[in-house]
Amino acid sequence: MAWKTLDDMALDGKTVLCRVDINVPMEAGRVTDATRVEKIVPTVFDILAKGGRPVLLAHFDRPKGKVVPEMSLRHVQPALEAALGRAVIFMERPDRASIDALPQDAVILVENTRFSPMEETNDPVMARFLAGLGDVFCNDAFSAAHRAHASTEGVAHLLPNCAGRLMAAELKALEAALGSPARPVVAVVGGAKVSTKLELLGNLVAKVDYLVIGGGMANTFLVAQGVEVGKSLAERDMAPTAREILDKAKAAGCRIILPIDVVVARAFAANAPHETVPATACPADAMILDAGPATIAVIVDAFLASKTLIWNGPLGAFELTPFDRATVGVARTAAQLTRDGHLISVAGGGDTVAALNQAGVAEDFTFISTAGGAFLEWMEGKELPGVAALRA
Ligand code: ADP
Ligand code: MG
Repeated sequence: MAWKTLDDMALDGKTVLCRVDINVPMEAGRVTDATRVEKIVPTVFDILAKGGRPVLLAHFDRPKGKVVPEMSLRHVQPALEAALGRAVIFMERPDRASIDALPQDAVILVENTRFSPMEETNDPVMARFLAGLGDVFCNDAFSAAHRAHASTEGVAHLLPNCAGRLMAAELKALEAALGSPARPVVAVVGGAKVSTKLELLGNLVAKVDYLVIGGGMANTFLVAQGVEVGKSLAERDMAPTAREILDKAKAAGCRIILPIDVVVARAFAANAPHETVPATACPADAMILDAGPATIAVIVDAFLASKTLIWNGPLGAFELTPFDRATVGVARTAAQLTRDGHLISVAGGGDTVAALNQAGVAEDFTFISTAGGAFLEWMEGKELPGVAALRA
């Protein structure tokens, strides 16, 4: 590994600044889903077990450099205490003397790093201030690693640093899937639009053996090949770009898999009357909402021929039954192949994770990234500044 983990660090008697992601959903001042808080528990316990005093740094929501009382991390403190099963000391204005005056096994939570305008500009003044609060920096917030902020990047250069448990697990899983994967590799990219996933497609065609393009973005590729798609969601102005991606794939020896049959309806609504037609035969007054059974069979064949699967984006309008059939069906096959040891499966993306949960298979995938933007940037082949700083 190019980065250190908590196992490599001597922490006894040290104060450990630990960047975490506890940006949890909240309604009326109460945390509605504590998953992110629960995920950092092993790292906090590890630091304590090694004799370190954890000082947690985190952002919450988007206060844009101002103090916004509703976005105080105070509101997350109770959920953190519940997850850790112990008291957490909240510091609105942290300073080294106050931290040093606390017991060595205290857990400290510092106020929202984004209350300072210097966080998102990665101001060296803030990085130095943060570094002054501790002896070691541990980054456990992969999901914030695509941003070069003072608490994710700047401070990492000023102290001995390492990855936390969660960060290390995420990096290991992602490295195994795309860095030096077991081949062949199949990628599934779906979702609404080509325009939001251009860099992703461009990077993947150069790295994977099969690229399945599904969802609304497949319609743009059909248009690019001269196919009429009626009232389907499609970005007609992106057709030349789609053709470039197809050319690039051909040159790289990547096989592109597009829908050969599609499920069409006249309304974008659950249980809308629908029919399955060849991908070249979408009626002018209808829209494509899902991939059909023949397409599913082709995708499953690609899975059977592969050893690694990377997935971002649903294959259809999965929020509307029955247009979740392709996404759910393909997800269940991937889960089965993973359980049988035939496939290493990695998936990420907000709607993708929701779709895999809907299919009831999230537990069966080798790794599911909840990191959103950071996961996408990683799939795009970008080096994440928060990770790069750990390598340095
Ligand atoms: P993720 O959040 O996993 O990165 P996206 O946000 O890119 O995924 O895409 C998810 C959205 O794409 C969903 O809201 C889904 O309804 C939509 N979508 C997928 N296929 C179609 C389609 N054929 N027509 C319209 N919308 C679609
Ligand atoms: Mg989305």
